[in-house]
Amino acid sequence: MGDMMVEKISVLGSTGSIGKKALKIADKLGILVKGLSVFNNISLLEDQIRCFKPEKVSVFDEDAAVKLRNNIKDCRTKVLAGIDGLCEVASLESVDTVLNSVSGMIGLRPTLCAIDARKNIALANKETLVAGGSLVMNKAREKGVSILPVDSEHSAIFQCLEGCHDKKSLQKLILTASGGPFFGKSINDLKNVTKKEALKHPNWSMGDKITIDSATMINKGLEVIEAAWLFNVSPDDIEVLIHRESIVHSMIEYNDNSVIAQLGVPDMGIPIQYAFTYPDRLPSIVDKLDLSKIRNLSFCKPDNKIFKGIEICKSALKIGGTMPAIVNGANEEAVKLFLEDKISFLDISNTVEKAMNHFKSNSVASLDDILKADKEARIFVKENVFRQENKIC
Ligand code: MG
Repeated sequence: MGDMMVEKISVLGSTGSIGKKALKIADKLGILVKGLSVFNNISLLEDQIRCFKPEKVSVFDEDAAVKLRNNIKDCRTKVLAGIDGLCEVASLESVDTVLNSVSGMIGLRPTLCAIDARKNIALANKETLVAGGSLVMNKAREKGVSILPVDSEHSAIFQCLEGCHDKKSLQKLILTASGGPFFGKSINDLKNVTKKEALKHPNWSMGDKITIDSATMINKGLEVIEAAWLFNVSPDDIEVLIHRESIVHSMIEYNDNSVIAQLGVPDMGIPIQYAFTYPDRLPSIVDKLDLSKIRNLSFCKPDNKIFKGIEICKSALKIGGTMPAIVNGANEEAVKLFLEDKISFLDISNTVEKAMNHFKSNSVASLDDILKADKEARIFVKENVFRQENKIC
């Protein structure tokens, strides 16, 4: 792992909740922001350009990129577009670290580009490791770059492992999960839940995709895959515990049955800053944890019959090859359809399960293998839903 504080950075997904907080922290720590990327929010990006004066920015949407170029004619910042622009911002010569907080599978190619250019990665894009785990980890090893987790659970485990001198003594990872907005509900209750209800997360304020993943618990399943790759642990040694308060961000268990946990208020400021300052720590903009006010911390096992996301992802990881990419692609597409009111809440995990049963896993030799599996899974989901709708008619 890297052993120097981040000095110059590119932030991919700079107008999302992680990106905005990361810029606040970079500003406070005096980290220079050399590159930014967004999907299409050019008005906020313009504010960020005027504030941080990056060398290059990238707008995924080509039309929005043209508009932005017009709006910032008085600035020196160069505006790029599309996936190539995203990759260029991910591999800027001047930066030492790339924070990838892009939402979804789009984040995979820029992660690989950044590693190729020998940048350390602060990783908040879990789909990168879910779909491309072996590819990303092998390349990172080969190029000698660090992948520092920004997901709260993985940062917690990373912090707990700081005192671990012998990896063999590690027995288990325990990922905590808030349970999302539908914890305790029955299948019947879930039949007619709305988009608005699903988007209301009890503890965290995040983007739409991850908030829905949190409601289905697929987010936790994706995090199990992410943890398996980051910490080289088998899926059977990763347990998930529901912890409604979101104060214990995850734990590890050693072979002497000692358990180490990382605690803090539910605020991404801690994991983002730790990825920037590792192995050091600096004062934070995040509130102190006052356990006397919280009083109770509760834990229970998840209901895997109602929320199938964790088990689906664990089986996909055990099958290996392209299967995690299939599950991830099917899920991204199903979440999109749910947000467009085209399928019901329960159909999200049902659809992902169907995709997993439909496809055979292939081995992964290159990025193309992953992109192909991802694309086929998305087409399957769209066609599957179309058939269902026809049946209803
Ligand atoms: Mg998380």
